[in-house]
Amino acid sequence: MEAEKPPWRVLEFYSGIGGMRYSLEQTGFPCEIVEAFDINDCANDVYQHNFGHRPFQGNIQSISSDELDRYGANAWLMSPPCQPYTRQGLQRHSADARASSFIKIIELIPHLKQPPSILFVENVVGFEKSDTHEHLIEILTKAGFTLQEFILSPVQFGVPYSRPRYFCLAKRRPLCFQNSSIDGQLLTSPSTFLNKNSSVLATDGSFEFCQSLGNFLQAGVDGTGGVFAVPHHLIERWGPAMDVVFPSSKRCCCFTKSYYRYVKGTGSLLATLQPSDQDEPALRDLGLRYFTPKEVANLHSFPEDFDFPAHVSLRQRYALLGNSLSIAVVSPLLQYLFSDPL
Ligand code: SAH
Repeated sequence: MEAEKPPWRVLEFYSGIGGMRYSLEQTGFPCEIVEAFDINDCANDVYQHNFGHRPFQGNIQSISSDELDRYGANAWLMSPPCQPYTRQGLQRHSADARASSFIKIIELIPHLKQPPSILFVENVVGFEKSDTHEHLIEILTKAGFTLQEFILSPVQFGVPYSRPRYFCLAKRRPLCFQNSSIDGQLLTSPSTFLNKNSSVLATDGSFEFCQSLGNFLQAGVDGTGGVFAVPHHLIERWGPAMDVVFPSSKRCCCFTKSYYRYVKGTGSLLATLQPSDQDEPALRDLGLRYFTPKEVANLHSFPEDFDFPAHVSLRQRYALLGNSLSIAVVSPLLQYLFSDPL
């Protein structure tokens, strides 16, 4: 009989509020998060509150290869800051200072006594066209990794939420993927890697297969007053640019870190009233409200018991969630990545 393998020793870079850790835990693989790293105090408070461990608070840029070797880790999970690759970020790519810690840590891989055997990178769509991406692929290929890349969104997993993201899955030889026929490719469907009898509903992105938003909402949140109601002056000013959805809708837009601070392009707004006597009711009659942080966490498929420490403000909650990731997407990807070939 095959001896039981020791648990994976995992480093979680740019840990934020722990979306990667939740995703990994959900796979059920024997894993130990040896250390998590994030520079943001508030994110680390939330991480500590939920996992009982405070991430190493420092700049990833200044970690040395010796320090990395001392962790004795064999898997790296990374979700570096996305601003350099978004349209708002002017697309200066690697020249942007925010990309430098990621490039720096990746460049250490060839110098490590124990380089990782498994590596997972999450980023925004657009990253795959950046020079940082080119650099990443070059370093990993030279260091003996096989790569598979994906662009996937929660809608493809039955969640009524559009948040397409780029993912790089890398395994260092002799490790290999279960489906090696897609090595080196960038794919936009999960059907090539999901187990046929997977309980995850993988569609090719049509919202009609999704649950309705009602399943992700908190009961009794007021849309006509209180902190979540959208003020009338914003409706007057920004109404035409608002993405309005209903509890019966099977879609909503990506929540960004600026949700609640700005209404345009930062995420959907929920209509809590549906006047029955008007064909096209005015926006101000719809009881428009923001999704609550709990609802955003639900759409990111965070576990029911995920929670914020009381001192974290509403704006900070939205900012942290907007930076985080969809567990419904990342967990099956990690499941596939950490699986041995059949
Ligand atoms: N996946 C995470 C969020 C990643 S967002 C989650 O689930 O929440 C990127 C994170 O990287 C942010 O939390 C930011 O504080 C952190 N960060 C950015 N640059 C950093 C650096 N140079 N060193 C350490 N952390 C950094």
